[in-house]
Amino acid sequence: MNKIPVAVLGATGSVGQRFISLLDNHPWFEVVALAASDKSAGQAYSKATRWILNEPMPEYAKEMTIVPATVEAAQAKIVFSALHSEIAKELEPQFAKAGAAVCSNASSFRQAEDVPLLLPEVNADHIHLVKQQRTNRNWSGCIVTNPNCTSAGLTVALKALDDAFGVNKVFAVSLQALSGAGYPGVSSLDIVDNVIPNINGEEDKVESEPRKMLGKLNQTKIDFADIKFSAHTNRVAVLDGHTVCVSVEFSTRPSDVQTVSQTLSAYQAPAEARELPSSPRPVIHVREEADRPQPRLDRLTGKGMTTVVGRVREDPLFDVKFVVLSHNTIRGAAGGSIYNAELLVNENLL
Ligand code: NAP
Repeated sequence: MNKIPVAVLGATGSVGQRFISLLDNHPWFEVVALAASDKSAGQAYSKATRWILNEPMPEYAKEMTIVPATVEAAQAKIVFSALHSEIAKELEPQFAKAGAAVCSNASSFRQAEDVPLLLPEVNADHIHLVKQQRTNRNWSGCIVTNPNCTSAGLTVALKALDDAFGVNKVFAVSLQALSGAGYPGVSSLDIVDNVIPNINGEEDKVESEPRKMLGKLNQTKIDFADIKFSAHTNRVAVLDGHTVCVSVEFSTRPSDVQTVSQTLSAYQAPAEARELPSSPRPVIHVREEADRPQPRLDRLTGKGMTTVVGRVREDPLFDVKFVVLSHNTIRGAAGGSIYNAELLVNENLL
């Protein structure tokens, strides 16, 4: 198979660097353009980028010249967007109009009625909404989004439980890593020896995005799942990996917590999303130890694509409570977008 040309917008940032790393030797995709702001355009990628990942910068990217994030300069069949939402709102439709499939991390279009908000292991069928989007917007490309990084792991765990027991209510408290705030992100004088009990706009996203992803595709739009959410979101001094402490009330109470653990472990992605290059293997890993999951130890489970759950136990107010961990810049961002693009290819929707 000839590789499909792809571009990365926002290639120098926290999520952009994950794209560069995860696309190295990708079996289907070949990076042909790296775009960033005017500050970086014209420079070699290795010169313009302050590389923050543990793994070395891939050789293929080092000497690529960064281009401006325009349709003319960053031409490709698939465009991965790691742009901030206000910039994405303006630029992503231009790429879709020019025929590109835009796989976006930004929040700008996540709640648009004709834009899929995707976790392929949860709602792969929602990808067919792009047909309606093409009709509505009269463009040959498309915009497909992935959720905010806290909703990602949370929604995977809730999907397994919703299928089995029906989820009514969710109470969630996040402990979110620093890389989620981009680079350079939160000042060290603010976060060292501290917890910041507010992340702008995040609680609204965690209370609404899972409802769209757990909803049903109804020809032209998604009917949101009827689940009540309450979320608290906090920034903590962890580099990568968002932890969420979750309490859930069900429609049908499971007989015991072992059944809940088994249901989570046994969950499988829909058939069309199971065997893609970035499919999480397994989708959910349930840890039995009393003190797991921990971000430093567990965030790279399944190459950072697996959702890790632990501390499954009874909840005196709701039915059960547990802890979810998900890698925010892999499953929650770049890895998720690449998985979405693979699903587009697999479903012949490019
Ligand atoms: P970031 O580290 O601040 O990086 C932003 C990138 O955008 C940089 O490459 C920057 O290039 C580029 N840029 C800035 N202004 C631009 C312009 N006018 N035109 C073109 N490129 C421009 O941000 P991030 O954390 O990677 O986040 C990127 C997006 O992903 C955001 O929408 C964020 O909400 C979303 N997201 C992030 C995470 C996460 O865990 N970090 C998870 C899910 C979703 P220069 O270096 O040239 O300035």
